[in-house]
Amino acid sequence: MKAIHIPQLTQATEQTEVIEVNEFLPSLETLTPIQGQIRVNHQGNYLDVSAQAETIITLACDRCLQQYNHRLTTNASEIIWLDEAPPSTVPEPTEVELTAEDLVETLPARGYFDPNVWLYEQLCLAIPQKQLCEQQCAGIKPVVEPEGAILDRRWAALADLKQNEFQEHNGG
Ligand SMILES: [Zn+2]
Repeated sequence: MKAIHIPQLTQATEQTEVIEVNEFLPSLETLTPIQGQIRVNHQGNYLDVSAQAETIITLACDRCLQQYNHRLTTNASEIIWLDEAPPSTVPEPTEVELTAEDLVETLPARGYFDPNVWLYEQLCLAIPQKQLCEQQCAGIKPVVEPEGAILDRRWAALADLKQNEFQEHNGG
C-alpha cells in the first residue's frame, strides 16, 4: 500500500480515500493475506482513519504451547491530529510538560500517512493478550504418570498378592 500524501487528501472526493486491502504486511506474519478496507478522511486539522480488516495468524497456546490458527479481525477507528508547524521549526527550550495531546497520534499536516504502519498497529492491538487454543484447554498433558498413581498400583499389586496367599492358605 502506498503512503498517502496528506495535503492531497483535500483534493479527493469528500476528502476521503478508501484503500482496498488484500495483501501481506511484511512486518506481520500471517497465514492469509490481510483483507479489508481502510478509509482515510481529511477533516481539516485531523485525519479520521478507520479500518475493517481480517487475516489468520498462528499463535502459541499459553497453556499447552501448541500452535493454533486464530482469525484476527480489527474494526478500528482513530483520530490523527495534523501538526501544522513546519518541520524546520526548532522547538523552544521550554520545560517538557505532558498533556493529553502527547498521548494521541499526530502527523505533520504536509507529511504522509502510511496505511501499512497504521494497519499493522491496529492488527497488533487486536492480538489477544491471553492466547488459548480453546477455552477449555487443559494445558500440557502429563507424559509421566504422577507418583501417586504408580504407588497406588504397587499397593494394588501387593493387595492382590496377599489375597492370593490367603486363598492358597485356606483353599488347600
Ligand atoms: Zn492449548
